[in-house]
Amino acid sequence: MADELSRFRVIEGGPAEDGKPKRAGGRAPAKGRIEMLLCHVCKVDIGVATATTLEVKTGRMLKDGKPQGGTKRLICVECLSRGKVTHLI
Ligand SMILES: [Zn+2]
Repeated sequence: MADELSRFRVIEGGPAEDGKPKRAGGRAPAKGRIEMLLCHVCKVDIGVATATTLEVKTGRMLKDGKPQGGTKRLICVECLSRGKVTHLI
């Protein structure tokens, strides 16, 4: 039992000084602010953050042969043309 637990190590640290959790990506955008949806993967791969998206659904179920439910997602079309699936939302 002790050997299994030794695979993990404790990382020193704790919550931020004010005790509130921080967003991984930095500051949250201001509420109601409009911004263009850009692809960060395209920015890394081709140097241009593209903005063309395609709405798809994942996790759909079949009922009487007809698809229903699922989760709407936006994927990047430029990434798709390069064989990647990048979920933007
Ligand atoms: Zn992309």
